[in-house]
Amino acid sequence: MIEARNLQKSYGRVHALAGVSFDVPPGQVTGLLGANGAGKSTTIRIITGYTVPDAGWVRVGGVLASRDPIRVRQHIGYLPESAPTYGEMPVEALLGFRASLHGLRGKARKAAVDKAVDACVLQSVRRRRVGQLSKGYKQRVGLATAILHDPPVLVLDEPSNGLDPGQITETRSLIRRLAEGRTVLVSSHILPEIERTCDRVVILARGRLCAQGPLEELLAQGDHELVCEARFQTEPSAKEAARAVGAIAGVGTVLPREMDDGVERWHVGFDPATIGEGDLRKAIGSNLAAAGAEVRLLEREKASLESLFLRLMEQGPDAAQAGSAA
Ligand code: ADP
Ligand code: MG
Repeated sequence: MIEARNLQKSYGRVHALAGVSFDVPPGQVTGLLGANGAGKSTTIRIITGYTVPDAGWVRVGGVLASRDPIRVRQHIGYLPESAPTYGEMPVEALLGFRASLHGLRGKARKAAVDKAVDACVLQSVRRRRVGQLSKGYKQRVGLATAILHDPPVLVLDEPSNGLDPGQITETRSLIRRLAEGRTVLVSSHILPEIERTCDRVVILARGRLCAQGPLEELLAQGDHELVCEARFQTEPSAKEAARAVGAIAGVGTVLPREMDDGVERWHVGFDPATIGEGDLRKAIGSNLAAAGAEVRLLEREKASLESLFLRLMEQGPDAAQAGSAA
């Protein structure tokens, strides 16, 4: 439903996006995940036609955003990161005004407002001024604004940001409901949020794509990873040992993570088609012993979005390239 290809965007010397490509399939909730500054909002502004990329393109429902931004915006309901609120306006008046910007008049406009009020559970506050509402309600008004023209695609930029846990839960179930029959792209830097809400994830780091795919598939990658901790007397021998572990047939990435007291920790990814977990443990154990190390821990990585995210962050796009070149 959304295709993004080779998106590039710089602000002066900051490369907000350095060539990002991904897909958002129809009828699913896709999470756009990344730390602050990763490029999520820039990506979303390009998709919604509010920012023009330096290079690359986006298609929404087959329509090129650069060629027909108006039609693309008709397809999309957009909740910006900081939704503009007209604090003085009552909720109903604001929604009516926004509906008229979509060209809705008379009965159609009223029907659209009523439907959005019902969908976002705003009945009790429809005559209150937006500025007087709690943050959770303001966010629901933002969501109501986004669905007035009944778009097939929803793009939500950090919808849970700044909400308390109760409001986050409410917003999550609201998003789930609004997602029925729609395609949703929702950005967040909060891992449990994405883990609970999304079918699929796109992970960005420093303007680059780290991973994309069905959440379950990405998590399953953790099944083919061991966590290894070993104590070394000297720093160079730890590096040699990491190289020796990397040289074992079937071992993919060896990601070192600094630890105190002469203990090194690595995540060791492996290809189960080439080497079984038992053989891998044996090989790692003997290689480390040969390097003069005392193995402290050698266990299977537990699959969670957090461990996946940490692994990707440690690895980084540059390390990933270095790894594939080695
Ligand atoms: P995220 O939404 O993931 O936090 P952003 O897309 O907002 O990330 O920002 C990505 C990078 O681009 C950051 O380094 C940010 O400071 C920079 N950036 C974003 N928008 C602008 C802008 N309008 N002017 C200058 N720099 C910007
Ligand atoms: Mg942002």
